[in-house]
Amino acid sequence: MGTAWSVKIIIDNTDTELEKNQVKDQIVSQLITIDRLLSTYKTNSELSKFNQQQTLDWIAVSSDFFNVMVAAREISELSRGAFDVTVAPVVNLWGFGPDLHQIEIPTQLEIDHALQKSGFKNIEIDLENQRLRKLTPEISVDLSAIAKGYAVDQIVLLLEKLDLKEYLVEIGGELRAKGRNANNLPWKVGIEVPSPQLRQVYQAIELTDEAVATSGDYRNFFEIEGQRFAHTINPETGRPVEHTLASVTVIADNSMQADGWATAFMVLGLEQGLAIAEHLKLSVLFISRTDKSFTDHATTAFKRR
Ligand code: FAD
Repeated sequence: MGTAWSVKIIIDNTDTELEKNQVKDQIVSQLITIDRLLSTYKTNSELSKFNQQQTLDWIAVSSDFFNVMVAAREISELSRGAFDVTVAPVVNLWGFGPDLHQIEIPTQLEIDHALQKSGFKNIEIDLENQRLRKLTPEISVDLSAIAKGYAVDQIVLLLEKLDLKEYLVEIGGELRAKGRNANNLPWKVGIEVPSPQLRQVYQAIELTDEAVATSGDYRNFFEIEGQRFAHTINPETGRPVEHTLASVTVIADNSMQADGWATAFMVLGLEQGLAIAEHLKLSVLFISRTDKSFTDHATTAFKRR
């Protein structure tokens, strides 16, 4: 998935015959399966084949693809369209997708053309028969903002099936923890300072049977004449978001929700994001850039942790 993963498991030597390599092999196999289904970086993945099809017929899809699309639709609706996995043509236009090209600012005509090929309303979901249908042939989907979180949740399901109850699973910064660490303490993870130059902890948090994800503008971006263009796209304007939010961290019951909502709030910005997060009682930390440093705003649920 273009990133790294790590799984830490506390195994009480008496309680399992499992070989460490056996567990690792099953994790790798699960990650490969999800990559083969949901990657836009593999032209033969299920998602890429869906994107390539210009049919308006119903298309039966895998339960993995379907479950991610249903979750994506829910976050899209609750975030008033800020989260929109059909922004794929716009993401690619700005150079943040699989077809990398030189960094430049697209023309308004190019942006308008890409926006015409997006819009979640142009995809129908048949909840009864696990099918999707495009309402415009050129619609395409990019699950980069939510499928890593889904992959974390699938690894968690695998560990639970192996009767492993204490673990910290991480894929590309999306994390989910259960139980306690080797020192019999809650798993502790760091929210990093949202700066491209630093690798410092802004705030450490303890995770107890929860997932955490962060989206930001400080890792995947380019600058032109001092202006930063990052990979979070406003589906209304077809441009990278232009507010002072540097990162958003979401803590949720599962990693797919945390992952999707972190991107949604990065699009919404502080004012709208905080209002929706409070209304939905979500545990969220918004870190904004100031002239010289950062400031943060946490939801009630985050403060209560
Ligand atoms: P997040 O904030 O979680 O996601 C940002 C991404 O979401 C953007 O890059 C864009 O793709 C998308 N997005 C932007 N705006 C919106 C919006 N408004 N609504 C919804 N989505 C939006 N990367 C590689 O370089 N090589 C690979 O081989 C590769 N394979 C992958 C396979 C899979 C299955 C997945 C899920 C991703 C893959 N990626 C790959 C992409 C990479 O792993 C990350 O997903 C990507 O960088 C974004 O994750 P993030 O946590 O950095 O940012």
